[in-house]
Amino acid sequence: MVNIRTLCIHGNEDKRDLTGSVSVPIYQSATFAHPSVGETTGYDYSRRQNPTREHLEKTVAALESGTDAIAFSSGMAAISGLMEIFTPGDHIIASSDLYGGSIRLFQQVNTKNGLRFNFADTTSLDQIEALICKETKAIFIETPTNPTMRVTDISALSRIARSRNILLIVDNTFLTPYFQQPLLLGADIVMHSGTKYLCGHNDTLAGFLVVSDADLAAKLRHILMSLGSGLSPFDSWLLIRGIKTLSIRMEKQQENAMAIAQWLQGHEKVKKVYYVGLPDHPGFEISKRQSKGFGSMISFSVDSEETAKRILEKVNLILYAESLGGVETLITYPMLQTHADLSQEERDAKEINETMLRLSVGLEYADDLIEDLEQAFE
Ligand SMILES: *Cc1c(COP(=O)(O)O)cnc(C)c1O
Repeated sequence: MVNIRTLCIHGNEDKRDLTGSVSVPIYQSATFAHPSVGETTGYDYSRRQNPTREHLEKTVAALESGTDAIAFSSGMAAISGLMEIFTPGDHIIASSDLYGGSIRLFQQVNTKNGLRFNFADTTSLDQIEALICKETKAIFIETPTNPTMRVTDISALSRIARSRNILLIVDNTFLTPYFQQPLLLGADIVMHSGTKYLCGHNDTLAGFLVVSDADLAAKLRHILMSLGSGLSPFDSWLLIRGIKTLSIRMEKQQENAMAIAQWLQGHEKVKKVYYVGLPDHPGFEISKRQSKGFGSMISFSVDSEETAKRILEKVNLILYAESLGGVETLITYPMLQTHADLSQEERDAKEINETMLRLSVGLEYADDLIEDLEQAFE
């Protein structure tokens, strides 16, 4: 097995086409002609499968050490598809500080279809065990979480899930397989917003579900074909292209993030820095055991709402925009953006308030980013 850095570039070479094209062609075709009755080229209609998408899926499956990966038109399309494996009455335990859109989907769409959710601090195995009942079919976590960067011990949780016949689903968007491979730690399903680090350039949406169980893969493929939310050939190509530089982006963005986290810690107007790579972070030790890196997401709280708003107004290089994981450094205001749909109590419980900002550290020169933040604080 080659190193993951090589897999990012040559993850699926078994399908190089007859021309020898080094870049995977974009098969911009909705349908495929059959050689004769009862014969097929392996493709019939792009809702089911398309060669460009298939190439991407095989690459992502290899990166996550899964047997199959399914590419959806967005991260939310992937989670919506996943929810179709459950039936009315099923119970799912989810992290209380999941991505806001996932909570919205669960509470406002899936509950009306008869699914039942409990949100818990999934870093606490005791809290999870206390919520498990005979209808519990899945535990859905993010680690680290968004935006407070809490870390769950995936192996320990997978042992609990396995012993109760419950699926463990991990949203691995923040660390990507380059830094963390949940399937190898005992998870059953890995989910990605491919829009973020896997794409890496803030230019397209994508989502993935990765599994290593053949029955589960078949079920999910049937759902994808039925719902019609697969990733388009062109967007698949952008993802293939983005993933080629995943390793180098993850390393360098993490290095930038560490420099910025340390600088923030020393700033008089910063009250708290949430970065998993800082040794005083509560998830630091677990992260070192289960991940190869800490990623490049940082949240921090400042001395007042005024300071927070001034920073958002004054940053130049750093863009005030939602999303994360791209080469451009972005700053967000979780209270008004990603977590706007939560109630005040829910936000208070998660320490998401008017003084908290979140940075997705990009690939610019670190000192330029720090200089931009410095002038924005003043
Ligand atoms: C962005 C994001 C999603 C949703 O993905 P989209 O591609 O925006 O639909 C889900 N989970 C996490 C952690 C995310 O950051």
